Amino acid sequence: MKTALVTGGSRGIGRAICLKLSARGYYVIVNYHSNQDEACRTLALMRENGGDGEIMQFDVADANGVVKALESWQEQHPAEYIEVLVNNAGIRKDSLMLWMEDEQWYKVLDTSLNGCFQVTRMLLKNMLVRKYGRIVNVVSLSGLKGLPGQTNYSAAKAGVIGLTKSLAQEVARKNVTVNAVAPGFIRTDMTADMDENQLKTLIPVGRFGTPDEVADAAVFLASPQASYITGEVLSINGGLYT
Ligand code: NAP
Repeated sequence: MKTALVTGGSRGIGRAICLKLSARGYYVIVNYHSNQDEACRTLALMRENGGDGEIMQFDVADANGVVKALESWQEQHPAEYIEVLVNNAGIRKDSLMLWMEDEQWYKVLDTSLNGCFQVTRMLLKNMLVRKYGRIVNVVSLSGLKGLPGQTNYSAAKAGVIGLTKSLAQEVARKNVTVNAVAPGFIRTDMTADMDENQLKTLIPVGRFGTPDEVADAAVFLASPQASYITGEVLSINGGLYT
């Protein structure tokens, strides 16, 4: 079985991506940070549908932890490699910049931007050696257009967009593609504190999106069929102007 890793696969968009990759025949490694029960639930859902995988705990923001977890997996599976990587783990810690604390700034940057770097660097070599790989980064409308109260989050996601475009050019000749999906407002735990009734009036489609709607696009970009698409950022936002 071919192997895929989804960071933050325990909930929300990451879980939907795990399920759809699994349905396409991937053995899916479900990374999570602290929510083991939810990661196990993702794994159980994949198995209910005839798929398989495993859960893997690490904090994407912890460079040593990332190296340890992924080196250990590789040692236990010397003949295999992770050919699909979805960098999905992310957090919000919104505040106007005037009141933003160091912790809010660094935690968000460390998770989305530095986490994407740490995990991708670990898996890149095998993709290049095997001459096939798919990397999909989950960014955000906020990283394209900016949103007040989210300078940390917007900076992190805009950074990942830059990483996506540069890395795509570095590795294209080895059949490794690097793309991003940029969701708008999607109904998950991350947006549970938002006023959907008010915000949906801004969205041309008139509603928040679903994790499945993001996952379908991510899984297409992660497929062999998306071989001539690289360095792209695909907006999935119900028509919000970007
Ligand atoms: P969510 O429901 O809050 O789930 C976040 C996931 O990320 C969880 O699986 C969580 O693991 C994991 N995670 C958080 N910090 C982590 C860390 N340091 N290391 C490893 N895993 C970590 O969020 P979501 O809405 O599905 O968001 C997924 C991605 O989409 C994020 O990158 C987010 O920025 C992006 N996005 C979301 C929206 C939206 O409207 N929802 C819009 C644009 C972009 P635990 O379960 O262990 O905590």
